[in-house]
Amino acid sequence: MRNLPRLRFAHLPTPVEELPRLSEALGGVQILVKRDDQTGLALGGNKTRKLEFLLAEAQMEGARTLITAGAVQSNHCRQTAAAAAHFGFDCILVLAGEKPGSMSGNLFLDSLFGAQLEWAGNTNREVALAEVFAAAQRQGRRPFLIPYGGSSPLGASAYALAFGELLEQEVHPDWIVFASSSGGTQAGLVAGGKIYGYRGQVLGISVDEPATILQARVADLAQSTANLLGETITFKADDILVNADYLGAGYGVIGEPEREAITLFARLEGLLLDPVYTGRAAAGLIDLARQGFFPAGQQILFWHTGGAPALFVDSYRDYLGAW
Ligand SMILES: *Cc1c(COP(=O)(O)O)cnc(C)c1O
Repeated sequence: MRNLPRLRFAHLPTPVEELPRLSEALGGVQILVKRDDQTGLALGGNKTRKLEFLLAEAQMEGARTLITAGAVQSNHCRQTAAAAAHFGFDCILVLAGEKPGSMSGNLFLDSLFGAQLEWAGNTNREVALAEVFAAAQRQGRRPFLIPYGGSSPLGASAYALAFGELLEQEVHPDWIVFASSSGGTQAGLVAGGKIYGYRGQVLGISVDEPATILQARVADLAQSTANLLGETITFKADDILVNADYLGAGYGVIGEPEREAITLFARLEGLLLDPVYTGRAAAGLIDLARQGFFPAGQQILFWHTGGAPALFVDSYRDYLGAW
């Protein structure tokens, strides 16, 4: 595999832990968790691994300002803002919609890290991002674009390498299950699985996209990631495992399945999930286990991708509060 420039700031390897009480409650399957909620940067998450490679490129290009975009409660934006602060870059975040009345969760942390916040309003996200980038260029701020979700081939390559990290921990699960959205995590894991000769299944639980769209996106990105790493492998959309049965009422809308999953992980294992991504993916995992989708005795690794700061957003907290 080709060696890519990388800044080392994530706390790696992240631990792998058993979840015996949850496994028992679900009957017959063994569930493990890979703690990428503990990657060490500003409350952690999966974007930290990607940023190790993306920031190395920004530094090599002599950039001064990191620019990225996301939802109001974007974990990617929060981790980008923290990494920018750590390495002395300015940071501009282009956030969806209008400025909300109060700051909480990730948005509060974005401002704490000194990021400049730009609200896209009614403007299309890509258009707003391009405008902010062009303005920063005109002002001589030497901007560097961090792709949405960190999901370029360079960002995704971090998850190909994370696969090697898992195997070095001598963990060989039958299934790897996780939340999939912009597709970089899944593309990297799929590419890494092929590169390292993994025999199990890499199953992304879609958070916001129909299966066919996410499969095509992941196959495309896995292909360009493998190419970047100098590996000759071919990926087809049909080979990408995506389950899109748990989209609920849409992106960021918490419902009963997420509430149950978050509560089960909290009360059986003392583990925090988040309302948008890992709560939804865990709800899918729980439902699939109850349906008997995973053959008895198999080992399932839930790759925790972070996101807990969103638990402290009023609307989510009110929904989850039990008293
Ligand atoms: C971004 C994110 C994901 C999705 O990862 P992608 O690489 O964008 O598919 C999952 N979980 C959390 C907590 C995230 O912030």
